[in-house]
Amino acid sequence: MTDTMDYPDVIIVGGGPAGYAAAVYAARASLRVLVVEQGMPGGQIATTDEVENYPAIAKISGAELGQRFQEHAEALGATTCYAMVTEIRREDDGTFTVVTDQDELKAPSLIVATGATPRTVGFEGEDTYRGRGVSYCATCDGMFYRGKKVFVIGGGNAACEEAMFLTNFASEVVVVVRRDQFRAPKGVVDRMLANPKISVKYATSVVKAEGGSLLGHVTFRNNATGETYEEDYPEGSFGIFVFAGTKPETDLIADLVDLGPDGGVLTDENMATKTPGLFCAGDVRTKALRQVITAAADGAIAGNAAYQYVSAR
Ligand SMILES: Cc1cc2nc3c(=O)[nH]c(=O)nc-3n(C[C@H](O)[C@H](O)[C@H](O)COP(=O)(O)OP(=O)(O)OC[C@H]3O[C@@H](n4cnc5c(N)ncnc54)[C@H](O)[C@@H]3O)c2cc1C
Repeated sequence: MTDTMDYPDVIIVGGGPAGYAAAVYAARASLRVLVVEQGMPGGQIATTDEVENYPAIAKISGAELGQRFQEHAEALGATTCYAMVTEIRREDDGTFTVVTDQDELKAPSLIVATGATPRTVGFEGEDTYRGRGVSYCATCDGMFYRGKKVFVIGGGNAACEEAMFLTNFASEVVVVVRRDQFRAPKGVVDRMLANPKISVKYATSVVKAEGGSLLGHVTFRNNATGETYEEDYPEGSFGIFVFAGTKPETDLIADLVDLGPDGGVLTDENMATKTPGLFCAGDVRTKALRQVITAAADGAIAGNAAYQYVSAR
């Protein structure tokens, strides 16, 4: 653990874009800020090669962008504690106890920015080729498939909407649906099926994706007959987008917040939850667009709101 503070004004759980943006704003407002991060600082974005949609930075690696978020906050006085938070309690006096796998921390205000995790579907090669042909975000990675073929896995609303979005780049979009019908509303499905670039493999699952450094080979299973078959393509000529839902990481604060329809935390426009002193920012919130820019914006508001809260105590 790097030097932690005995009693910071605000503890921020999660060192991704939302957490460090909150740290920048809270530290500049002269709060003592402690960020608790369980892994590599930078959050999800640190796992991707290229980011091309963070305004004012035309192109940057995800790892560098994540590192810059951390460096900026620490240059302003925020401290990072490398530990996993295992429990969060609000005490009778209104302060928060944050239990980690190493220590117990206390502060009068808390910002939870634990992010969200895209749900995986579990085919062989899904982990190995994540970021090298397997993607969970059309807004992030669609551009990289200009003129290429893409497979979209999923039968819900997100899969249909994202399949249509991907036709802006891809030469061909094949939607792979586990069952013999979509779960998405009929209007959305009809609109998608009317798109000449989109075709559907019904009652089908991807069971394996392979290749060299990039994908070159997919194995499908026909779920009606159990039969499997393979398709080969030149390496790097196609991608697989998985849209099986997103899980906001809310478990630590389940009894302190209300959740929205997507499982994310409901806040007001100041990022305040129903528990006084507890703010949430970034992908952990209920929201329509989970991106670095929206996470950072949430973080800025939460950092400022924590300052207002602590000053008024
Ligand atoms: C492969 C990929 C590519 C992407 N590409 C883009 C892109 O090009 N452009 C774009 O704008 N967005 C992109 N995104 C989305 C973007 O990364 C997220 O929207 C953004 O990172 C959300 O920031 P966040 O701070 O809310 O959460 P996260 O980035 O998820 O950060 C949460 C942090 O909290 C930590 N944490 C969680 N639980 C605990 C705990 N119990 N104790 C301690 N720490 C904890 C995690 O380790 C993590 O570091 C991409 C996402 C992925 C997965």
